[in-house]
Amino acid sequence: MADLEELYREIILDHYRSPRNRGELDSPPAHRVEGFNPLCGDEVVVSMVVEDGKLADLKIAGSGCSISQSSASLMSAAVKGKPVEEVRRLISTFKGMMSIHEATLEHDGNGAEVVQDEPEEIDLDNLGELAALQGVVKFPVRIKCATLSWNALAQGLDEVAAEAS
Ligand code: ZN
Repeated sequence: MADLEELYREIILDHYRSPRNRGELDSPPAHRVEGFNPLCGDEVVVSMVVEDGKLADLKIAGSGCSISQSSASLMSAAVKGKPVEEVRRLISTFKGMMSIHEATLEHDGNGAEVVQDEPEEIDLDNLGELAALQGVVKFPVRIKCATLSWNALAQGLDEVAAEAS
């Protein structure tokens, strides 16, 4: 388990130091969403282009703690170029990984014990490098750091869909 935690830490640091898909797309045509996490001071700007049912392009800007920035980078690498439906599934899987743990933590307050429980409906194998962020649930105040960019992406997809209909 120590080796896995070390690997996870390296993945997070790597994405923090060398963020993927960094920058902003011209808006318009890109759709731009800003997210802010007042608990930690994290800011994220997600700009995205949806074309033919795909998340054709995506860039991330902003600044904040290593968790918020590496989560945004990991997200961008995982979703760029994917069909929007698949992106939405990944968002709910990722947020499930965070919120189920969060709910459990709130329930009996014993962090070290409950994070061992793997919720059945979350398939961590599908998360790839994103699984590195599951360690964040041991620190409930950091969960909002990790989900910030994902909430911004989800909001952006909703807004793009609303404009198109
Ligand atoms: Zn943060």
